[in-house]
Parts: sequence; structure tokens; C-alpha cells
Amino acid sequence: MSVSIALFTSDLRLHDNPSLHGALGSADQVVPLFVVDHAIRDTGFRVPNRAAFLADCLADLDARLRRSGARLAVRTGEVTEQVRAVAAEAGAREVHIAAGVSGYAQRREERLRGALEIDGRVLVVHDAVVTAVAPGALTPTGKDHYAVFTPYFRRWAQHGVREPLPAPRRISGAPVRYDALPSAASLADGAPSPELPEGGETAGRRLLDRWLDGPVEGYADGHDDMPGDLTSRLSPYLHFGCLSAAELVHRTAAVDGEGAESFVRQLAWRDFHHQVLAARPAAAHRDYRTKGDRWHAETDEIDAWRAGRTGYPIVDAAMRQLRHEGWMHNRARLLAASFLTKTLYADWRVGAAHFLELLVDGDVANNQLNWQWAAGTGTDTRPNRVLNPLTQAKRFDPDGSYVRRWVPELAGIPGGAVHRPWRLPAAERAALEYPEPIVDLDEAAARFRQARGIDD
Ligand code: FAD
Repeated sequence: MSVSIALFTSDLRLHDNPSLHGALGSADQVVPLFVVDHAIRDTGFRVPNRAAFLADCLADLDARLRRSGARLAVRTGEVTEQVRAVAAEAGAREVHIAAGVSGYAQRREERLRGALEIDGRVLVVHDAVVTAVAPGALTPTGKDHYAVFTPYFRRWAQHGVREPLPAPRRISGAPVRYDALPSAASLADGAPSPELPEGGETAGRRLLDRWLDGPVEGYADGHDDMPGDLTSRLSPYLHFGCLSAAELVHRTAAVDGEGAESFVRQLAWRDFHHQVLAARPAAAHRDYRTKGDRWHAETDEIDAWRAGRTGYPIVDAAMRQLRHEGWMHNRARLLAASFLTKTLYADWRVGAAHFLELLVDGDVANNQLNWQWAAGTGTDTRPNRVLNPLTQAKRFDPDGSYVRRWVPELAGIPGGAVHRPWRLPAAERAALEYPEPIVDLDEAAARFRQARGIDD
């Protein structure tokens, strides 16, 4: 009886899973394996919100595997050691894994390949599992990745996306030790955000079906409407691989209209950031295109930003949504990031780390490279633009409902006036338990221009 291992990482699903498919096609029996990797915990990446979501994902994956005749084997520790041990226990010839893009994932792949080779086994790496189009599949002449989105998207749209694979009906599991699944509490210390979504392929597919059944049609017009909350909220399911990006592209292509087109473009943004990180893993912590910034160090202002008490209601609402839901609207992420890096002129790494502490979809490629984009050290072709929070508020939360939802101290202020509480009559202003603005926007913009050496 031949055995292969399907090592799940960022692909916690049965539908359209090329690594699982590869393992099934290569042997009579398969060990579906997940390793609770100590290295990920030790870097601080496994935080309560993502731990809770991950625990749901593993429980759901196991339940689905059981319905197909197998189970999920879980091990804890150093990933290479654990995979080697399970391979020896099962007598597996091949280990199938999805290609990862981060520096850590690339090193893990190398280590696994080397260790398995010593034991006479083979690591089979599948690309285009985490993304719709494999990183490195599209390159400009003479370069190893695209640094600008628009030409990347043109090629991406022409290239097409591989056909999704069906979920396997029957999986013959190999007889190895099957431990209890990890609980959220065993994966990370601390309480998750109160309104965290439920993790797993089942919840993800339910959300996707509902999204494609109508709401996606309003995406082109509605995606920036902050109170409307008209985006898909599929990001955590994509991050953990409960949903396949390739399947999403195919299913969305079957929906007519501008909304679906515009949604697919966002999926291409995700692929874009992944191909940048795959080629430049150091961009997770180093400026992609440095501007020689001498960022302001840790200050009370940065603490106020983290706490959602900057005195700018739209920024504070964004930061409080993050804490409460472990998720933030894209427009809110953009303006909160611009505020930190350009208005407070604080290092994008400080902001990216705070987001990674809370985001349930926290993802090295999307988070670090979007932060760099917002800070003007990344791939933005207009790196010095500063988003004015008041202008943004007027455009994307004109009647102030988003702020009233997240900043209860201001819930009694009607309409757009909620964005400028400092304009209220003195007595009303004094009664609010809400801070004065921590910084003057014009002065901050001038300071930023000067720091970047921009002439007026
Ligand atoms: P939708 O608008 O419905 O978009 C559909 C999908 O497209 C998303 O789920 C996501 O996978 C992808 N997508 C959308 N916008 C982007 C984008 N700008 N870059 C890359 N992919 C995109 N996204 C993450 O998944 N993880 C992160 O850690 C993350 N950090 C961010 C940090 C900053 C500072 C900024 C500005 C953006 C960040 N994003 C991140 C991108 C984006 O904000 C989220 O993907 C999006 O808000 C998730 O909500 P949604 O699923 O409703 O998105």
C-alpha cells in the first residue's frame, strides 16, 4: 500500500486543493497533516484572533475529511521534524505542499526538501494553490516580478486562471496516530476580538455563495462606502485558504457586470502583492523602495493611534473596528495607515505590526505590502500623496454613520458634523469624553513634505 502526505498550510480546504489532489493521485492512502508550527508561534504571528479562526478551520477540515473517509492528523513542534516523523510512521514516499511566498515559507520548503531527501522521500511543491496565478508565472522582460500593478493586471487578465479541481469524494486515510485537534486557547494566549467571524471552509463557502448571489453586483459602486459595508469580507477565508482564489475568479467570471469585474481586479491585487513578496521576501520588513525616511520614534501619538483616540473620528472609528472585529474596511485601512505614516510620520513597520496583532486576515504579503504602499515606500506610483482624514470622511462616510457605529462617545452628534467635534459649541464639546485632535493636519502635511524633500 503506497502512502503520501498532504501537508496543509495556507490551503485549509478540500475544494480546489492541488496539493491534496497531488497526494491522492500519487498513492493508495493519504495522511492529511497539519503541523502546529512552533516557529510561527515564536515569531509572534499566532495571535488570539488568527488562532481562534485557525482552530475553527482545523475543526471544519477534519469534519469534512471524516465525511470523505479520512481524518486530519495534527502534530505540534518543529515542522521538519514533525513531517519526517509522520512520514516514517506512515511509510510515505511523497509529501505534497502548497508553495508559499514569505521568506519563512520559502525556507521551510528548502528545509523540508533537504530533510526528506536524506530519508529517501520527495517533497512535491504545488504552485497557484494560495494565489489564482502562481507568483513568478508572469514577469516583465528581464525582471523577476512586476513592480507596478496596472501592467501586471493586464497580463494577469490575459493569462487566465487554471480550472478549479473538485473536492475529492473518497479519501483513504493511512493508519497513523490521530491526536485531538487544538483549541484556540492552546494555540495562543489571550482573548480574541468579540465579533470575530467563524472560520473554516464551510463558513467560507456559505459566505461566498451569498456574496455571488447578489451583493457582488454592487461592488464597483459600493466598495468604498464605509458605513455600507458592501465588500465581501472573504479575506480571512482567502488568507487561511478555506477558499481558493482560482475558484473565486472562475465563479465570479460567471457573474455579469461591473461589480464582478471590479471584484476580480481586487483578487488580482492579492496575487500582485504575493508575487512581489515571493521575489523580494525582505520587503516584509525592509523598504521596497526606500525614501530615506527618518521616521518619528514611538510617541504618545502612536499610542493614541493604536487606541483609537487621535481626536480624528474617522481614524478612531477605523482603529476601534479593528479591535472589535479583527477586521477593518479597506478604505479604513488606507486612511488609518496614511494617518500613521504620513500625518504622524511614524514607521510603517509599527503600524503593520499592530495590524498583524489584530487582523484575522493578517497576511505577510497583503499587510506588509499594503502598508508599504500607504507609506510610499512600496509600489504606489504616487508615493507622496497624503490622505486627509477629513476629506476622506466627507467622501466615504458623508453622513457619519460609520463613526457613530464605532465611536460611542460621538453617537449623539447627527450627520457629517460628527467628523469635526471640535466645532461643536463649547459646552457640548466639553461634555464629550473625546480627545482634541493630537495633531494639526496642515502642519503635519508640511512636515511630511519637508521630510520627503518635496517642493511646494
Ligand atoms: P473585498 O473588497 O471584498 O476584496 C476581495 C478580496 O480581494 C479580499 O478578500 C482580498 O483577498 C483581496 N484584496 C482586496 N483589496 C486588496 C488589496 N489592497 N491588496 C491585496 N488584496 C486585496 N488584506 C489581507 O487580506 N490581509 C491583510 O493583512 C491586509 N492588510 C492591509 C493593510 C493595509 C494598510 C491596507 C491598506 C490593506 C490591507 N489589506 C489586507 C487589503 C484589503 O484591505 C483587505 O484585503 C480587504 O479590506 C478585505 O476585505 P474584503 O474581503 O471585504 O475585501
